[in-house]
Amino acid sequence: MATASDAFANLRVFDHPLIQHKLTVARDHRTAPADFRRLLNEIAGLMTYEVSRRFDARAVPVETPLETTEGRQLSRPVTLVPILRAGLSMTDGVLQLFPEARVGHIGIRRDEATHLPVPYYKRLPPDVQDGYAIVIDPMLATGGSACAAIRSIKDAGCRDIQMVCLVAAPEGVRRVHDEYPDVMVYAAALDRQLDGNAYIRPGLGDAGDRVFGTV
Ligand code: URA
Repeated sequence: MATASDAFANLRVFDHPLIQHKLTVARDHRTAPADFRRLLNEIAGLMTYEVSRRFDARAVPVETPLETTEGRQLSRPVTLVPILRAGLSMTDGVLQLFPEARVGHIGIRRDEATHLPVPYYKRLPPDVQDGYAIVIDPMLATGGSACAAIRSIKDAGCRDIQMVCLVAAPEGVRRVHDEYPDVMVYAAALDRQLDGNAYIRPGLGDAGDRVFGTV
């Protein structure tokens, strides 16, 4: 469902037609915030199957109405870490599949003049180091916010981190790879490039504005 990118060892791109169909509608500038939000959550949910493929599951006994048998249960906690604010737009979609996941938050805004990340909020579960963290941000642009978030989660002791985004720019994927080669990035598309304002082209505009109707 997600194929390894020829260009980047740390990138998996979802070529599934359903994800590509939803992404195309999300890219369309006429798509209203309510539909945009729904699409992003639906895509995030579909991606979750693949993102969780490597998660450890231990054998556990389970009593069916007829007998005891052996089942498997995820053995380590999962923490979703949306980068505020746009990351919130994909979090519910992942939670639909992982209702037990905890949700940490990292607030990083982009300085519009320098395009550098400015952290302003961090709240993670105290035992985040015991399990998996999934960083969520629909747009992986320069990679500045993604790397700042990954640094923060690593500082909290977590060693198993993945990133889920909708659209990635080559510049951002490269930066995550250079700074954190152990972090796999999952995206619905690898777009062409960043423009002079650090927007992804062709992209879909400002994801936060489109989610929250603040355009
Ligand atoms: N953030 C966005 O929301 N869109 C971009 O194109 C780049 C960063």
